[in-house]
Amino acid sequence: MKIWLNGGLRDADGARVSVFDHGLTVGDGVFETLKADHGRAFALTRHLERLTASARGLGLPDPDLDEVRRGCVAVLDANPMALGRLRITYTGGVSPLGSDRGESGTTLVIALAETHRRPDTTAAVTVPWTRNERGALSGLKSTSYGENVVALARARELGASEALFANTVGALCEGTGSNVFVVLDGELHTPPLTSGCLAGITRALTVTWAGAKETDLPLDALERADEIFLTSTLRDVQAVTRIDRRQLADGPGPVTAEAMRIFDAHAAADFDPR
Ligand code: PLP
Repeated sequence: MKIWLNGGLRDADGARVSVFDHGLTVGDGVFETLKADHGRAFALTRHLERLTASARGLGLPDPDLDEVRRGCVAVLDANPMALGRLRITYTGGVSPLGSDRGESGTTLVIALAETHRRPDTTAAVTVPWTRNERGALSGLKSTSYGENVVALARARELGASEALFANTVGALCEGTGSNVFVVLDGELHTPPLTSGCLAGITRALTVTWAGAKETDLPLDALERADEIFLTSTLRDVQAVTRIDRRQLADGPGPVTAEAMRIFDAHAAADFDPR
């Protein structure tokens, strides 16, 4: 397995990142996860824009996007596989303990792992913890994902694959690694970015392609929803057939099935050319 580390392709086994890297010690970093289909990255340009936005939000220097793009292509070429998850991690770099970040530059790691297509349906749960829509990290894809790790572990204990958060005012927000859509009275809605959710790329495409409305919704909209689905890079559009103890259906409802169809039809054209 070859990875990209700070300017060059290396063997994953021999690649070294300092134990003083701020990404490791204090979560001072940002990341992107892309889907790679037979060596082509999905929506690469959008992911690079979000990487830059997240880096700016954390006060990191802008990543060198020419290098990131080159690194992605090199890693994809060096590790052929059918369906991959390409992970870009960019951190504040090495600093002696206790000093400011980035004294000797930033760290860029690009790595690829094989993955599988997610099932069309899944179960989700709500969790008692909240997303802070006014927090410093709100809307940033930072490596400080501990909160998501805890919530996802809770979901898995309960036999679900995703945990959904409300924000501090009790509005529906997002999942640990996905955005959420609900069908109410036949209309498709998703929480607005002001809810504190990540600006998901799959979310944005689904809003445009399937014509969803961005609406402030209370968490209990999940109890009333006729259909619920999740969107993310690796899930695409995935129907939620059980939310907490409520069984909605056996399979995707009609609005979800249409959103899946529209997404698949458009997405084929969104793999960046090499
Ligand atoms: N929300 C969070 C917290 C995420 O980590 C992700 C996934 O990366 C998403 C939403 C979905 O975003 P995307 O569709 O860009 O994968």
